[in-house]
Amino acid sequence: MPNNQTNRQRFQGKTAIVTGAGSGIGKAAAIRLAQEGAKVALFDLQNDRTRSTEHEINNIFRGVSRSFDVDVSDPERMEKAVQEAASYFGGIDIVFANAGINGVLAPIEEMSFEDWERTLRINLNGTFLTVRYTLPYLKEKGEGSIIITSSINGSDRFAGFGMSAYSTTKAGQVGFAKMAALELAKFKIRVNVICPGAIATNIDQTSEPSDELKEIVIPVEYPEGSQPLADGPGQPEDVADLVAFLASSESKHITGARIVIDGAESLL
Ligand code: NAD
Repeated sequence: MPNNQTNRQRFQGKTAIVTGAGSGIGKAAAIRLAQEGAKVALFDLQNDRTRSTEHEINNIFRGVSRSFDVDVSDPERMEKAVQEAASYFGGIDIVFANAGINGVLAPIEEMSFEDWERTLRINLNGTFLTVRYTLPYLKEKGEGSIIITSSINGSDRFAGFGMSAYSTTKAGQVGFAKMAALELAKFKIRVNVICPGAIATNIDQTSEPSDELKEIVIPVEYPEGSQPLADGPGQPEDVADLVAFLASSESKHITGARIVIDGAESLL
């Protein structure tokens, strides 16, 4: 199992919804939560990859996970899938709103409205809908933890090529998380937002910046070994550890926090 081993069982009797659970950070977090006793609803577009996460988890922790084919930006599908997951597992305690895309990388003048809107729809609307439809179930439990994946590209470091749409969504997620934290504190529902730096995942490999784009956009060069704490990017499991902390009662007095996890990349 590709994850940090643990003997702790902080999530016995809890259910988590993880979006973007078919790959990368979402997959690592789903495995981590299951390792510690959570039942996990895996939400993703990528059916085959999500099924393989489901099998991987269920082979070891029998029956604790189930995959759901969901586009997080589709309101009707989200509402229905959340309902299905809550009734299958008996409620929801933890929500990891993590699904996201880089989207098309292009200078602003060349960014089509459709490409701009698609990135906003998946990253921002997807986050809103995930919180919107899981909220009644968290309220029913009388407490809950919501964790949202933003990025240092939304607040700390603007070094990407043609990432105006992406950065806009990542900044928007921070604002949303803070307002939600304030609004939901009286229900004992905590909302925190995490900002990873570069993490070794498969995110949108197809949208690597072209050489032409690199010439158009003023490049901000990453120095050699761009994360001072490590030789390369962080690992999805590093982020999963943070997600588990924020999901657990160990962080019971933490809400509205924006936590950077980047090996000091944003300080360069
Ligand atoms: P990933 O591509 O490995 O995983 C993302 C998952 O989200 C995929 O399985 C994909 O199918 C799913 N997804 C995409 N659109 C969806 C939709 N409309 N509905 C449902 N699922 C959808 O990438 P990752 O790096 O694990 O990304 C997870 C989150 O982390 C994203 O929000 C991303 O912006 C953020 N992030 C990533 C990095 C990084 O360097 N990898 C850095 C900072 C932030």
